[in-house]
Amino acid sequence: MSTASAPSPESRPLLRVRDLKKYFPIKKGVLSRVVGHVKAVDGVDIDILPGETLGLVGESGSGKTTVGRCILRLIEPTEGEVHFDSRGLDAELQGEADSDGYVDVRPLGRKPLRSLRRDMQIIFQDPFASLNPRMTVGAIIGEPLTIHGLASGKEKEERVAHLLQTVGLDPRYAERYPHEFSGGQRQRIGVARALALEPKFIVADEPVSALDVSVQAQVVNLLQDLQERLGLTYLFIAHDLAVVEHISDRVAVMYLGRVVEVAPAKTLAHEPLHPYSIALLSAVPIADPTAPKDRIILKGDIPTPINPPSGCRFRTRCPHAHDRCAAEVPPLEEVRPGHWAACHLIENGQLPDEVLATRRGSGGA
Ligand code: SF4
Repeated sequence: MSTASAPSPESRPLLRVRDLKKYFPIKKGVLSRVVGHVKAVDGVDIDILPGETLGLVGESGSGKTTVGRCILRLIEPTEGEVHFDSRGLDAELQGEADSDGYVDVRPLGRKPLRSLRRDMQIIFQDPFASLNPRMTVGAIIGEPLTIHGLASGKEKEERVAHLLQTVGLDPRYAERYPHEFSGGQRQRIGVARALALEPKFIVADEPVSALDVSVQAQVVNLLQDLQERLGLTYLFIAHDLAVVEHISDRVAVMYLGRVVEVAPAKTLAHEPLHPYSIALLSAVPIADPTAPKDRIILKGDIPTPINPPSGCRFRTRCPHAHDRCAAEVPPLEEVRPGHWAACHLIENGQLPDEVLATRRGSGGA
């Protein structure tokens, strides 16, 4: 099986995802018969190294949010494995580890899963919907501490105050309610809640998409600062490639339930290999009025994941599709060191000249 990223020899992944699938059943009729499946995620492999940020990008409907939620088992995966490094976890979880020292998240029972959730947290997209309007900020941030029996009374108050300071908010805000805050402040409260249990790994699910552009940079900078200070590992899910490139060490591009390219963020920005990544990057605005506007307009909408195209799923929109693309699924392969892509056109790590000419800045297209 190919893996979407090779760990560097000195560092083993904190998280390994193998052949992850999530099919949502489509039910019809009074008997709710299953008449098909929405294949939201259909065979995803990714590794995330400790302390890194892996950006996960794609259009809406690509399955990126479903991947994040399956990893945390906020929704149950249909198939596949999610392995979390057991080093540093509590003794009970270490007892669940395999011979490589990884805990498989999927089969975990309720109690060990709850323990593991201390180390795997999520920041939600919508800072307006994700905070309970009837709870004070202090109660929201302190709730995980109560649920896990980690602190109460004065100690909890002190930890909440410290968490508010950590995310750049006044500790006195603990007495207030979410509606009293701006979008950016609410997202900081969401970050403080995610940090309450001192996790190792955080899924940041479009954490800045609902914010004004002026506030987005503040939250992104906060996440980077916290990563440095606390040694956090992020899966950063977003559709905005510019934000992802800025915050990520590596980026994985998803299309219709599958990863089509993984590369270091700078490599992906300047030397994308998959035609879908090339098209996505061509649409990123550049703050230079003299830069060539060689945007690639993709034909049509993303196809339905109920009945995805045969072979390469991108073929119905790919300007370079040929016969083989309908017949064979292109495997995700390491085409250059640390650079993985799934396209029949790549040979010896190179694209044909006519495809290269469509890259932004190449002067083509
Ligand atoms: Fe396009 Fe074919 Fe490559 Fe898919 S495999 S991206 S359809 S050229």
